Amino acid sequence: MCLPLCSGGPFSFLKRPAFFFEPKSQGHSMISALMPNYNRADLAFERGEGAWLYTVDGRRFLDFGSGIATSSVGHNNPHLVAAIAQQAQRVMHVSNLYRVPQAERLAERLVANSFADSAFFCNSGAEANEGLIKMIRRAQAKSGHPGRTRIICFNGAFHGRTLATLSATGNPKYLDGFGPRVEGFDHVPLNNMNAVRDVISAETAGILIEPVQGESGIHVADFRFMRELRAACDEYGLFLGVDEVQCGMGRTGRLFAYEWSEITPDILSTAKGIAGGFPMGAVLTTETIAKHMTPGSHGTTFGGGPLACAAANAVLDIVLAPGFLEGVRARAAQLDEGFDRLSATYPDIFAGRRGLGLLLGLKCKADVALVQDAAMHEGMLSVTAGDNVLRLLPPLTVTQADCSQALTMLEGAARRLRAHMAAQAETVA
Ligand code: PLP
Repeated sequence: MCLPLCSGGPFSFLKRPAFFFEPKSQGHSMISALMPNYNRADLAFERGEGAWLYTVDGRRFLDFGSGIATSSVGHNNPHLVAAIAQQAQRVMHVSNLYRVPQAERLAERLVANSFADSAFFCNSGAEANEGLIKMIRRAQAKSGHPGRTRIICFNGAFHGRTLATLSATGNPKYLDGFGPRVEGFDHVPLNNMNAVRDVISAETAGILIEPVQGESGIHVADFRFMRELRAACDEYGLFLGVDEVQCGMGRTGRLFAYEWSEITPDILSTAKGIAGGFPMGAVLTTETIAKHMTPGSHGTTFGGGPLACAAANAVLDIVLAPGFLEGVRARAAQLDEGFDRLSATYPDIFAGRRGLGLLLGLKCKADVALVQDAAMHEGMLSVTAGDNVLRLLPPLTVTQADCSQALTMLEGAARRLRAHMAAQAETVA
């Protein structure tokens, strides 16, 4: 039996619990033990099942955030849980001083199902992008172009929080206080080929693009633009890199989002959903680049360990199963239709949808934080993105019934918010 979702007024999730603001005084320390670098909602989950999460105090929520596009095969997925448990009982970590059969199998499967010839495994999206940047530079340097070090990136991109990936991201908001920025990244507007061509120089090594920008508001790169980038890379001897940390591993209804534009990149980073919630990242690339990554050139202690690779192999079993990606596309079509209906019925709250597959955005007319909070009060979790967009990222295993319920909850949220805004307008008048 679930407790009522809301105990503290219509938008109480926006009020952060007191312990976030009132640090416990320990000796001279006035800071909370857990570093205050996140803005957390007042929810603590104890378990999950499929697309549902259950709080420690007995409430249940439909998870349309998936831990930011990460719990790709749902919570407590029996195949994934069994793979992790079995591997943990055998051996968790050996280091890359030895062969790791689980990593060899995973690499072979990823190579067989993509443009790539070779895979490198690491632990996060930022680390995958660091690897990608290093590999592009090294391949240029080792093939006679040491002066080619710069990478063209796009306004609105998000590539991670390490120093180089922050500089590739380019957004001053994330760099605040962390300067100086790492040199070597040029930023141009998305979907503008003239701007790209204008910035290509003798120092350019490659281009890095998210086929679907997640953080900045679910902006899909035009398929034609992707093809033009490929052509420019071929023309100037540049490497085309795609950041599929968020949009890869089935999220858009294809194993990788670049497939939609019918191009092949030279190098790809992925992470988030790759191991269904177990921390992991990967770089996939061609022999032309990978042949320069000789022993000792790059590495990581935890990357490609038996446990993470067992998890990722289990996720691949599910995502590559016949009909699975068709199912993702069918759920996406169901949600697209529902979002169009919601946008038409509540034009004061929603202003249309964006996205590809189950990487979806609802552009909001009302403040997106209020929409997210109202949805939470209806029992649904979502993630905000830039440009006042509500990001909806259900597990790829989400059911038709879950999607119907999500649409009902969003409708409830729109009504709740409408009533709230009307009451506010009355108070002002
Ligand atoms: N690249 C993209 C497109 C992302 O969305 C993210 C994270 O949101 C990253 C890179 C960084 O990944 P991580 O947080 O795993 O370092």
